[in-house]
Amino acid sequence: MANGICVYAESYNGELETVAAELVSAAKGLAETTKEKVQAIVLSDHAEELVKELDKLGVDEIYAVKADHDITLQDDAVSAAIAEMLKKIEPSAVLVPATPQGRSIFSRVAMRLGCGMTADCTEVLAAQREDGSFYIKQNKPSYGENVFVTILTKESIYPQMMTVRPGVYAACEAKESGNANVTFFDDIKIEKSGVEILEELPAENTTDSILGAEVVVVGGRGVLEDDNFELLEKFAEKVGGAIGGTRPMVDSEMIPFNHQIGQTGLTIRPKICISFGVSGAIQHTEGIKDTNLYVAVNTDENAAIFGVADYGIQADLKEILENYLTL
Ligand SMILES: Cc1cc2nc3c(=O)[nH]c(=O)nc-3n(C[C@H](O)[C@H](O)[C@H](O)COP(=O)(O)OP(=O)(O)OC[C@H]3O[C@@H](n4cnc5c(N)ncnc54)[C@H](O)[C@@H]3O)c2cc1C
Repeated sequence: MANGICVYAESYNGELETVAAELVSAAKGLAETTKEKVQAIVLSDHAEELVKELDKLGVDEIYAVKADHDITLQDDAVSAAIAEMLKKIEPSAVLVPATPQGRSIFSRVAMRLGCGMTADCTEVLAAQREDGSFYIKQNKPSYGENVFVTILTKESIYPQMMTVRPGVYAACEAKESGNANVTFFDDIKIEKSGVEILEELPAENTTDSILGAEVVVVGGRGVLEDDNFELLEKFAEKVGGAIGGTRPMVDSEMIPFNHQIGQTGLTIRPKICISFGVSGAIQHTEGIKDTNLYVAVNTDENAAIFGVADYGIQADLKEILENYLTL
């Protein structure tokens, strides 16, 4: 019988990605209700080191395949190996990071297992049927990010497979060591891929700059007038902050979608967040609620953002930015 909440532990260059620890948090939350084991799968030519790192995250079981070559971007071959692993493990659910790697590999895995996959969840919740069995409510934005939907995997289909957006769950803390049961599947080989890497170029505009930033400067619709965005950019540079924004900033193409903060964008946890011209709609503030210190600038004394902010400045953002930049 299908059992276990399994996390795909994404890695790059022999290091676990932060999102792996985030998904372990999500899996632990689900397992508290379903009383299943938390499992992780990892495939890499650095599998032994990654298993040690995963163990520190406090998972119950780790399943690994050691590759005899670098498998970066070998998604066709990796997905075949993962499908074989999951047939052996038989988890009830698989949580996958909604990253380019996760999406590419697991759409292929879903096809191989015939189980379907829910893409881009921002919340996963355990629920119970009348017969006592558990299932996962897979909540995600849909229809151009305009509505939230709950997707359920058909009752007889396992595993329930879903990708989860990076940044929505706080990463669980690593301990000194753990006591997971570790299984290496020596009989599963990662075959030769049809993909050949010709050149590697660094990506521009990655969301990592926001997700890892200690200071984030957030622009809202109020920044769209005049040269306000230019001032905001100069301000961000001066305070060493990354720039994020609300949906109107994305709609007006001031910032790319992967810099949108909120329910259908990123959840950020910086030390300091400073917003300019943001009203404080719930869909936005969901993405900043774990910020340590929040400062908001808005002309409207009744703006909802002042109910969320630690410090509020009721003023014209242009005035504040121009004055700060002369310091
Ligand atoms: C299903 C769904 C999902 C959504 N997901 C997201 C999401 O992930 N992220 C997101 O951001 N939004 C999201 N939205 C949209 C959200 O509801 C709000 O419409 C949006 O956050 C508002 O952005 P804003 O605060 O920039 O604009 P507004 O609400 O228009 O507020 C602009 C603010 O700027 C102030 N202002 C104007 N000029 C100045 C000035 N010169 N100086 C100082 N203050 C000034 C105004 O007083 C006002 O409070 C979603 C909506 C839906 C329906």
